[in-house]
Amino acid sequence: MSRATHRHLVNSGGVFADYKYVSKASHVRELAADTTALPSTETNRANGQRPVLGADGFVGERNEVQKYITGMAAALEDLQKTELRYALATRATRDGIWEYDVAHETLVLSPRCLQLLSLPDTSEPVSWPEVAERFNHEDVETLRKGLLSLFRNPDETFQCEVRIDLAGEQRYLEIAYTAYNEDGHVTLVVGSMADVTADRARLAELEFHASHDALTGLGNRRSLVRQLELSLLARQQASQEHNELSLLCLDLDSFKLINDSLGHQAGDAMLNIVAQRLGKLASDCVARCTVARLGGDEFAVVVEHSDLADVESLADAIIKSLSQPTTLFGLQVYPSASVGVVHTIDQANASDLMRDGDIALYGAKLTGKSRVVVFDTTMRDKAQAALDAQTHIRRAVDKRNFTVAYQPVVHAAGRQVAGFEALIRLDAGNGKSVMPSKFLDYLEQSDLIIEVGQWVLNRALADLAVWRRSFPEFSELGVSVNVSRRQFADPHLFAMIRELLDRHNLPPRTLTLEITETAAVSHGVDLFPLANFRAAGGRVAIDDFGTGHSSLFALHELPVDVLKLDRSFIARIGPQTDRVMDATFEFVRALQLELVAEGVETPYQADWLERRGANFLQGYAFAKPMRPIEVWDYLNADVKASDSTTTAA
Ligand code: C2E
Ligand code: CA
Ligand code: CA
Repeated sequence: MSRATHRHLVNSGGVFADYKYVSKASHVRELAADTTALPSTETNRANGQRPVLGADGFVGERNEVQKYITGMAAALEDLQKTELRYALATRATRDGIWEYDVAHETLVLSPRCLQLLSLPDTSEPVSWPEVAERFNHEDVETLRKGLLSLFRNPDETFQCEVRIDLAGEQRYLEIAYTAYNEDGHVTLVVGSMADVTADRARLAELEFHASHDALTGLGNRRSLVRQLELSLLARQQASQEHNELSLLCLDLDSFKLINDSLGHQAGDAMLNIVAQRLGKLASDCVARCTVARLGGDEFAVVVEHSDLADVESLADAIIKSLSQPTTLFGLQVYPSASVGVVHTIDQANASDLMRDGDIALYGAKLTGKSRVVVFDTTMRDKAQAALDAQTHIRRAVDKRNFTVAYQPVVHAAGRQVAGFEALIRLDAGNGKSVMPSKFLDYLEQSDLIIEVGQWVLNRALADLAVWRRSFPEFSELGVSVNVSRRQFADPHLFAMIRELLDRHNLPPRTLTLEITETAAVSHGVDLFPLANFRAAGGRVAIDDFGTGHSSLFALHELPVDVLKLDRSFIARIGPQTDRVMDATFEFVRALQLELVAEGVETPYQADWLERRGANFLQGYAFAKPMRPIEVWDYLNADVKASDSTTTAA
């Protein structure tokens, strides 16, 4: 492309005034038309004339010249269109276009470029120093280096960001350029220029949000990990003294309580107070501290170049500061926090540090509230073992390796079996059963409890149906199934139960649902289906009665048949009179409920309970929970025992 063409392109602002090519094209077209005036080839031949001599010594005859000229006109028209399109695009884009003449060290700048650089409008070349003056000093150097590299590799494109100062405001320009080389010599550099200040600001904002916690404005987990990585790297590179790096992991001891009882707004306010207090301690600290919120009520502080004693005092100060009472929505709150500290001199990686900090925090929580625990490696082994067990359990849960154990419930009078309580177990694969306390939480949290609960109900009813058919002597044999709060809130629960009872051809009275008082009175639970279930003959028991805070009024309102007196109650049975026990029996009698005493471990307790009017007993004194296969032996033995008592009688 010629320099003139370039000038024309770059000065696209003036393109509509400059119809150089338009006029050229029409001129050629006119010429083509004119050639009709020339004698035709045939006429030439006939006249014995020489062929027509065209431009550049082209020898041809009239129609060939005409063809040539018409072709040229078309080509020029194409070029003209392309250029017009190019010029329009240049005008439309935010980008400025420029061209650098290497030999003269001058630039031709498009109007947009001139505007971006705040230079006076001109179509004349501008000297390089005049342009360079606009840029930040260091960036001029970058541009120059880019140019040099283009001289070496003319086929490449160079791109960089430069800063310019416009009336005291710093703006960022993205500059890209490539070379035009003639026979291996770069004679011309062509480039673009765009104002990316707004893009940069948006990017910075995005980056801020990606690395900061929206609630407290503190750095988030990501930024903390990044900070740890940078600090660890700096440590590896410079072996300076006081190379220590510490991570403090902390969380609030009863944050859930604040959230649950005062609401999320109060919870958020509490988190902001914590963030402020930590921020204050960090800025007062002589060592360099960075505070971050890892999520929920978990925070962390990175402390650099500080020995363990100082870090421990900081941890103590944090505990002290966070336990200052505060007022949330008019209520006095007494927060407290636990802190796990990990202190390192030799390099580790960020994720190891985070894990060890977590382990120490876990240790602090176990030892009680408001504690500081410093990590040591023996903790890691213990935590690893616990984690392995967890993983093992989760895997077994994911494979649905569940079984059901059955514990007999016996009539207090006569002690024959009345039914069984179904108790879920998890087969962890090593032949041992895992107890529900180890996995129920996981089921509850992951909502698996609905699916698994249904499985237990089906299993228990299927087993019961078989036993009832095989042992017609136990015509009233029933089964109790535990239903958690989450299951109880499931709107499909009772429809599912009806279907299962039908499937196994069992009358509803053979099924007792055990729910806890808290599940039954929890807010928003519709008790209507429960009442329906009872109306159809189904039985409902309040489990663990006497634990938690019993609301006797609520109990009075609840559609229930049975109270299961908790094991902790039974353990109190002794020779001395117990007022609470007396009152409880009184209460049960007044409500005309059946009473099951569970966790009965001794004959003394059993006899005592029988005398006081308990209807059913359950506990190790009679049998431990057993596998379904063992239930057969148990029932067989019970048949024989009752046979012999009848015979004896
Ligand atoms: P729970 O309903 O109170 O069940 C009674 C627990 O006490 C059972 O523990 C049983 O093995 C234990 N136990 C029975 N007799 C004695 C005794 O004489 N002494 C002692 N020390 N303990 C005795 P398990 O099987 O570990 O069940 C624990 C809890 O898990 C149950 O407490 C129940 O709340 C829950 N659970 C069990 N199975 C299921 C289920 O299928 N679904 C739901 N949602 N929860 C279940
Ligand atoms: Ca139970
Ligand atoms: Ca219980």
